[in-house]
Parts: sequence; C-alpha cells; structure tokens
Amino acid sequence: MSTFRKIAFGYSTLCNIQCGHCIAADEDTPARGMELTRAMKLIEDLADSNVKGISFTAGEPLIFLNDILSLLQVCGKRGLYSRVVTNGFWASTPKRSDQTICSLVQNGLSQLRISFSRWHEKHLNRNNIVHAVSSCNKYNLDYFISFITDFSEQDESPEQFLRDSSFRFFPEPLIYFGRAQKLSRSNIHTDYQPNTCVMNPYLSPELDMFACCDAGSRFTNSNFFFLGNLKDYPVEELFRKSENNPLFNLIRSMGLTDIASYLGYCSREIITYRKCEMCEKIFNSRETVIRLEAEASKGLLEWKR
Ligand code: SF4
Ligand code: SF4
Repeated sequence: MSTFRKIAFGYSTLCNIQCGHCIAADEDTPARGMELTRAMKLIEDLADSNVKGISFTAGEPLIFLNDILSLLQVCGKRGLYSRVVTNGFWASTPKRSDQTICSLVQNGLSQLRISFSRWHEKHLNRNNIVHAVSSCNKYNLDYFISFITDFSEQDESPEQFLRDSSFRFFPEPLIYFGRAQKLSRSNIHTDYQPNTCVMNPYLSPELDMFACCDAGSRFTNSNFFFLGNLKDYPVEELFRKSENNPLFNLIRSMGLTDIASYLGYCSREIITYRKCEMCEKIFNSRETVIRLEAEASKGLLEWKR
C-alpha cells in the first residue's frame, strides 16, 4: 500500500467565470456540489485511509469560502497537507485579498495554487494575481501560479508578466478536453518522451472516484479511470483498486509512448500526440482496454528495453 496518498477533492463544480479552455466544464452540464457535513466526514475517512494530502479543486472552491474553511479545519485536525486551486477572483482589491488569505491561513491551508492564463484574463484582471501573491507573501502562505498555456505566441505577454513580477509559476500544458476541445491547436512534434503519469485520484461531488485527477472522468466510452462510488465502496478499496491496477501502473512506470508502440503505433505518429490525447486515443476504447488487460501480465510487460 502507498504510504503517501493524495487526492483531488471536487467539493463543487460551480465556477464564477467561464474560461474558454476549461476542462472541468461543458456548456450544458449543470454544476454539482457536495453537502458540507458529508464532505467533512469524507475527509475523516480519507485520513483514516492514509491520505496525507488533499487538493480542493473542480470549479472555483473559494465561492464557498466558509465551507472550505470548515474543511481545512478538518484537514488540520487530521494533519493533512491541504491545497486550494483557485482563479483568484477574491483578490480584486488588496484588502479583500488580505482578508481571504488571512482566513485561509488561520484555518490551516498549506498551499495556494493560483490558476492563470490568457483565458482567465478575459474574466479577471491580472492585478488579482498581484494582490493574491502579495497577500500570500504577507501571511507567509506557500503559493505557486499554474500558468496554463498552449505555447503559442499569444502567451508570451502573460508569461512575461509573470517573469517581470518575479512570481513563482509553472507552465501547464493546455488539455484539449471539456470546453478546450473546441479550440484550434497547432500540430506538435514532441521528442520521443516516455509520457508517464503520476495519476492522483479525483473525487467528484457525486462521490465518484477516478484514478486520474486531470481528465480521467472524460473517458466515457471505456470508463477506464472510474474506480467506483464511495456510497458503494469504502475509500480504502478504491485506493487499492487504483494502486493495484496493472494498466494504471504501466502508465505510471512504462509510460504511454511505449504502450502506444506496443499497440503498433508508428513512432512518427506517436510524436504528434499530446500526452492526454494519446492517453484518450489508447484508453477510451473498450476494445483496446480489453486487449491490453489481457496482455498486461505477459507481452506488454516484456515490451521494455
Ligand atoms: S478553468 Fe478554472 S476558473 Fe476557469 S472556468 Fe474552469 S474551473 Fe473556472
Ligand atoms: S495522460 Fe492520462 S492519466 Fe495522465 S493526466 Fe492525462 S488523461 Fe490522466
């Protein structure tokens, strides 16, 4: 059993802006949420199951600031590392920003992850990021900025803003699922890199648990990453299912590139896929999953240098 389990916790999918690149939303899917008391109990269950880190994500968690503060208190009481992923809407003025960060720190938040991109900027002023970072520094809260990019020239200006401001940021490749499916994209030719994936689980507001927190709930043809619903199974069982699944472990260790090669993809084609698109191509097909499951303990395992 893993000694350090982490999970992305989807308290609600509601968001107050509509980014054109959002993978968490489709135009016609209504927002869903959890009950606070159930969420608090769930965090206790997760802690009992050796979860050590929780990332509050999905829509915009800080719409429900008071609820998140209550959940952070449970995390703190159980010694869990906590992270909130936010668009920073609450940092419209230095005063509002300070108030929010102060309350998050007082209730035990370990780290803030602020999402930023040219799509966010259509809805929120970049000064919000300035205020938010300033408040994090003032209240000694660890933070980083997740800079979502398609690596086009249009992203040079927002990236330069982050560099000029000396903010701590990490570029995150845009994933072309959800609303981003409609966005045009350039052809890519990557290096022949392994494309491994850590795969932390995601818990949805409906208590569905998925083995992948980024895009796993999108594989609706095969339901490949779906582990089960917490109304039907204990947390421990679903974690074990994720940790013991031979194909998941091959994604973690061997990587998608070698799996694609094993399936007969030509190397010239493999280097044109973005990671999650390659993952979808392989694992959102029931036939391919059945074939790989049958071969996971023999031929596929031997497909190594
Ligand atoms: S990307 Fe984040 S901030 Fe933007 S709509 Fe989606 S959940 Fe909201
Ligand atoms: S590559 Fe697959 S497992 Fe990794 S984040 Fe993308 S969809 Fe999830």
